[in-house]
Amino acid sequence: MPTNNSIEQIIEEGLCIGCGLCASVFPSQVQMQLSPSGHLRPSESTALNSGQNTHLQSFCPGVVQSGMPSDKVLNPENIDPTWGAIETIVKAHSGDAKIRHKAATGGALTAISQYLLESGQVDGILQVAGGGLKAYFGHSQLSQTSDDVIKGSGSIYASTAPLENLLKTLDTGINIALVAKPCDISAVRLLGKKDPRIDRQIKALLTPVCGGFFPPFAMDNFLKSVGADEDDVQSVSYRGEGCPGPTIVRFKNGETITKTYLDFWGTDSSQWYMPWRCRICPDGSGEAADIVSGDTWPNCEPTLEMMENDLGTNVVIGRTSRGAEIINGALKANYLNIEGDAEPKDLDYWQPHLVRKKTAADARYAGMRAAGQMGLSTLDLRTDSLKKCINESDYQQELVGTTRRIKIGKHRDDFSEESSQSS
Ligand SMILES: Cc1cc2nc3c(=O)[nH]c(=O)nc-3n(C[C@H](O)[C@H](O)[C@H](O)COP(=O)(O)OP(=O)(O)OC[C@H]3O[C@@H](n4cnc5c(N)ncnc54)[C@H](O)[C@@H]3O)c2cc1C
Ligand code: SF4
Ligand code: SF4
Repeated sequence: MPTNNSIEQIIEEGLCIGCGLCASVFPSQVQMQLSPSGHLRPSESTALNSGQNTHLQSFCPGVVQSGMPSDKVLNPENIDPTWGAIETIVKAHSGDAKIRHKAATGGALTAISQYLLESGQVDGILQVAGGGLKAYFGHSQLSQTSDDVIKGSGSIYASTAPLENLLKTLDTGINIALVAKPCDISAVRLLGKKDPRIDRQIKALLTPVCGGFFPPFAMDNFLKSVGADEDDVQSVSYRGEGCPGPTIVRFKNGETITKTYLDFWGTDSSQWYMPWRCRICPDGSGEAADIVSGDTWPNCEPTLEMMENDLGTNVVIGRTSRGAEIINGALKANYLNIEGDAEPKDLDYWQPHLVRKKTAADARYAGMRAAGQMGLSTLDLRTDSLKKCINESDYQQELVGTTRRIKIGKHRDDFSEESSQSS
């Protein structure tokens, strides 16, 4: 039997997101591998001892997800009840039209990364780029030039382990900014409570807003639907070259298949496929990050007209004084251009799927416990007060629905039926 909250149990309960931080913290014992179900997952060559498992539980996003630790909050009155600490929020895009076009949305994360690198505030940007153990995965990349940062722009909607090389990179003594998903950023913030290198050498934590990514079975279905054999695929570009731009499958023989963003994701966010951990995620808005960048489409879905004409505009949020300072510096130096004002309540309109997940989180974790699982813990995410935004009947429905889904195995990495769609 796996011990409580061992890596094995975290995977078994469908809560591992494959961030790679355990492999970075315990490199001689844990390696990231392709699991039989097709996900990137940690594998122990030597089992962690109980002290190491206790350490793992303090940061692993399969055990706990955190918002902004209170000692990093500048103004407690700037904590939005739904969206957390917000020091500044604007609509903006890269000041370089080519980057705005190439990047996922308006290139804000790329522009801020370039600003940090070119102004000498960091030596490198630890981000991700396409490819890895599968052609359509992402992999961790240390970018030390603007060209590398630009090559890493775009969104990867598949397994990626952005933290796999984190401590190895910090061991070299350089200062970096990290770009990773909200769950990854939470793990790094939590590790920072014990490892002083995190605060000392990571000068900024950057994140895209995140609603989840495609699990392997959904990617298989997509590739089959376009007549592609995975073995022939060289790379997948999920979006970019427009906002959102096309999804392009490139083959080893040089041919390509081009589809639209809505061909890939479908036309209704309630039908999005995603891993179980993403479905029960308490925060895709990057509450633990210094800077967040997201899309600004109504309901987070581009219309056909937007897919043809949208130049790309991000919502950019500075959550800490450091984050706000960097955004202001990037604006002054013209790396970023302002498109307009924004308010925290605009996020309700742009990211309604994240409001649903935040408010249902407590009920879902109660449902996990009712199914005999440990559930997920949250810290500094106001999960207890957010649950009051849904009525008692909806709360019970979420709770019972989660227990039922776990009992029929929907949480498992190898679950692959149509019914695994988001609800
Ligand atoms: C898995 C995923 C889900 C998303 N869901 C939403 C959503 O629900 N709502 C929303 O508004 N926006 C979502 N986005 C964000 C959106 O796609 C854009 O990434 C975001 O608006 C930033 O745009 P940008 O132009 O500033 O990014 P860019 O300037 O193109 O920079 C993107 C940065 O993100 C990094 N990155 C890309 N993919 C990953 C990944 N898988 N893991 C870690 N880092 C990565 C890149 O290395 C790059 O540094 C999601 C992105 C991802 C990766
Ligand atoms: S979520 Fe990250 S830290 Fe936790 S077990 Fe998975 S890869 Fe390791
Ligand atoms: S939805 Fe949540 S768990 Fe899934 S990748 Fe995004 S931040 Fe991580």
